[in-house]
Amino acid sequence: MARMFVPGPVDVAPQVFEAMSKPVLPHRSKEYEAIFQRAAKKCEDLFFTKYRVFIGTHSGSGMQETGIRNLVQKDVLSCINGAFSERWYTVAVSNGKQADRLESEWGKPIDPDPLREALKNKHYEAVTIVHNETSTGLENPVEELCQVIKEVSPDTMIMVDAVSSLAGTKIEMDAWGIDFLLTSSQKCLALPPGLSLAGTTDRALEKAKTVENRGWYFDLLTMENHRIKNSTAMTSAVTLVYGLDFQLDRIFEEGLDARFARHTAMSKRVYDWAVERGMESYADEKYRSKTVATVKNTRNIDIPKLNAFLLERGMRIANGYGNLKNNTFRIATMGETQLSDVNELLSYIDEFMK
Ligand SMILES: *Cc1c(COP(=O)(O)O)cnc(C)c1O
Repeated sequence: MARMFVPGPVDVAPQVFEAMSKPVLPHRSKEYEAIFQRAAKKCEDLFFTKYRVFIGTHSGSGMQETGIRNLVQKDVLSCINGAFSERWYTVAVSNGKQADRLESEWGKPIDPDPLREALKNKHYEAVTIVHNETSTGLENPVEELCQVIKEVSPDTMIMVDAVSSLAGTKIEMDAWGIDFLLTSSQKCLALPPGLSLAGTTDRALEKAKTVENRGWYFDLLTMENHRIKNSTAMTSAVTLVYGLDFQLDRIFEEGLDARFARHTAMSKRVYDWAVERGMESYADEKYRSKTVATVKNTRNIDIPKLNAFLLERGMRIANGYGNLKNNTFRIATMGETQLSDVNELLSYIDEFMK
């Protein structure tokens, strides 16, 4: 039963912990390589890619940095409409890249028209986009934005952060034309924190060959040299990969379409509940996140008090992110969470509001 309605880390199924509690194999052993390869193959299906998915022993932010270091020598365009896209911009700047900002107001999607203009005015080696802004509960129209980039500047690398949506929402890496697609283990995959995944195209690796100072730990070309031997350059997070291998079986058993539909139905339940109580989603209706429902707190619910009330019942929701701390609240509908859990949570919130 789901208890953590925060956007990561989320509840992990007991069976997954069990699958992880096997003896730790050396990462350079035939037995481990077989498990690693199997897990990586299943990741490709999850990402809808024929290319490859790197499995990193670090959280998703490391993959944001990997993308920047490998696919950008100098010029990158950062699409910014929330805290995590702002962070990716900071990652680019702190790695010495010339990052330009393409901003939308928080809660509003990245607009294809100014993106088109920006790409016409200057050549960018890469564009960064966050698919699901966890800070505002907004899903950007990534497929449409990719169309624009491919049309105006076909050699520009498209990098997408789907940390809080991949495995909860359909994101078709190859069909949309994404070159670098990243996620973390502790959100929609419902694994413990510590792993990140990055789908990477051939042309992204070709681009990396031209980029200087890719660094050492996050060098995609080193990663690829080991990946083709079914392993990692440095010690792999062996235990978490057992969990990944097992959890991907559970995900495909549920069925991807069924899983995506479950997330959509749960988030819709939260939005409908909010509307019935005179509140609305923070993001425009068309762009509402399916994995982290974010509601304007127009009823002035005392979120810390509510959470204290919920914690007595073993549950927890998230307050707003950063500046939105008190004027929004967020209910994650990802991972193992079922509609019945959401219903139970909402009935407790109703009880609290009385
Ligand atoms: C949580 C989150 C991150 C940060 O991921 P870590 O795994 O904590 O490094 C980045 N982007 C988005 C959209 C997120 O929700």
